[in-house]
Amino acid sequence: MSESSRNQEERSLHFIQRIIEDDLATGKHTSIVTRFPPEPNGYLHIGHAKSICLNFGLAEAYQGRCHLRFDDTNPEKEEMEYIESIQKDVQWLGFDWKEHLYFASDYFQQLYDIAELLIKKGKAYVDSLTPEEVKEYRGTLTKPGRPSPDRERSVEENLDLFRSMRAGDFPDGTYVLRAKIDMESPNLNMRDPALYRIKHASHPRTGSQWCIYPMYDYTHPLSDAFEGITHSICTLEFEDHRPLYDWCVIESEFPHQPRQIEFARLNLTYTVMSKRRLLNLVRDGHVEGWSDPRMPTISGIRRRGYPPQAIRDFSERIGVAKTYSTVDFALLEHCVREDLNIHAPRAMAVLDPLKVVITNYPEDQVEFLEADNNPEDPSAGSRSIPFSRELFIEREDFMEHPPKKFFRLSPGKEIRLKHAYYVTCTDVVKDDEGTVIELHCTYDPASRGGWTDDGRKVKGTSHWVSASHAWESDVIIYDKLFTSEVPGAETGDYLDDFNPDSKQVIPGCKLEPSLKETAPGTNVQFLRKGYFFSDPDVSQPGNPVFIKTVGLKDTWAKKMKQS
Ligand code: ATP
Ligand code: MG
Repeated sequence: MSESSRNQEERSLHFIQRIIEDDLATGKHTSIVTRFPPEPNGYLHIGHAKSICLNFGLAEAYQGRCHLRFDDTNPEKEEMEYIESIQKDVQWLGFDWKEHLYFASDYFQQLYDIAELLIKKGKAYVDSLTPEEVKEYRGTLTKPGRPSPDRERSVEENLDLFRSMRAGDFPDGTYVLRAKIDMESPNLNMRDPALYRIKHASHPRTGSQWCIYPMYDYTHPLSDAFEGITHSICTLEFEDHRPLYDWCVIESEFPHQPRQIEFARLNLTYTVMSKRRLLNLVRDGHVEGWSDPRMPTISGIRRRGYPPQAIRDFSERIGVAKTYSTVDFALLEHCVREDLNIHAPRAMAVLDPLKVVITNYPEDQVEFLEADNNPEDPSAGSRSIPFSRELFIEREDFMEHPPKKFFRLSPGKEIRLKHAYYVTCTDVVKDDEGTVIELHCTYDPASRGGWTDDGRKVKGTSHWVSASHAWESDVIIYDKLFTSEVPGAETGDYLDDFNPDSKQVIPGCKLEPSLKETAPGTNVQFLRKGYFFSDPDVSQPGNPVFIKTVGLKDTWAKKMKQS
């Protein structure tokens, strides 16, 4: 390999890949083990998708393995519903944890035993300060903390109290177990953080077995150690927690030492991502549940018709960095469009129908025209579509008094009907209010298939459906959930930027007959209109309901060209 191509390759690795390659090269690890550790307190969103793709993707790339571990240490907020949805989401993205499904709650006994060990080593103590006092004693960034009066409790007394905590002798909030580290540390996380709290709450998996629960900062590093995780990848907010992470592993005397590595979380324009905000959108009825197709949840984008491969591609393209940035929503849509362009079959649907009568076409005649299913994929084959004297075209494809550059239909103008014929508008029929209700056209029989051999050119091409063969249906158009790039940037309340028109039901759309047989959960392109998806939650076999996945106009590609 030449020097320059080696440099090229090095440059294209992100910093986590480099760390892994070094660890494999030096023999620090012979294979890598990563994990995705969601807290089952909500549905996963596209930010989690990035973390899933990163963790499972690295394991795949380096022939290691990736665990799915539920961080279920917070009994009150967690539900089985979330556990199930999270598993479904990871699988949908195309990843497999195989037999490596774990729950932090499975380690409760082991974690408890290590807590007793810490007490015996003089590295943890039971504290009776109130939460307000704990806060006050902790100090600030500029002021060192001071020791709790309980800090010097004897080992025996600590053990006794901790065992009583566990036995359920005390009400919630009366005691906590704290690590004994350094009340003067410049890192507030190291000023004797809590390891255990009392919570008389039933846990979805352990029931009422426990009334004390370990804290995240204690559970997480030890779970990583127990499972032999080599690279524990998390978001940047945890950078300041890393010394505590290491402290827990070292003091536990557990032989395996995992390494925490932080990267910048994904932020997306026009999107809110925190579970709390998403939960509010659901609770307050702004959306129709966690899997509303407008939601940035994985279940939402799945129902919207985003293909999993597009999410993996997106995740790859945005890369992994150490500094915060916000990714343009248009890039996500670009990735979706790129995938669908190759995979989605085409069909014709008229969303705002205007009737057209072909006056020189025989009244009872129906003919079937060949239409390719996907010009990007010859293997997708073709279908026949019926053509007859009465058709529908899109109302916006006609103008009675067109401006100069309007190439679609207008009186006296000729256009192409896709896959069919050239037609020329001869008459405009209006109702009493002057609204156009019907067009009369003539067709040129010599233009069958949509072209002639006399070299005649027509600029406009419209999609259409045969009036008597089309079937009528509502089509749902979704737009962005928020109207500003950073929801709430101006007023501080993201709901102020909620897009009230983010869902529009378009009644009376006229769809080509073949669409009727679309199975639930299938992507299609409505020619000239965008990519649509037969909503898997409401479609029935033989009765699909189409929702819009994304439009055809690629704002991302346009931006890239301009820059
Ligand atoms: P949120 O803050 O959005 O409510 P969370 O961080 O509380 O999410 P967890 O269930 O704790 O959600 O996260 C599981 C994993 O997903 C963690 O490793 C976390 O770092 C990662 N993760 C969460 N949000 C993002 C994001 N926006 N970008 C990348 N990774 C993320
Ligand atoms: Mg969290």
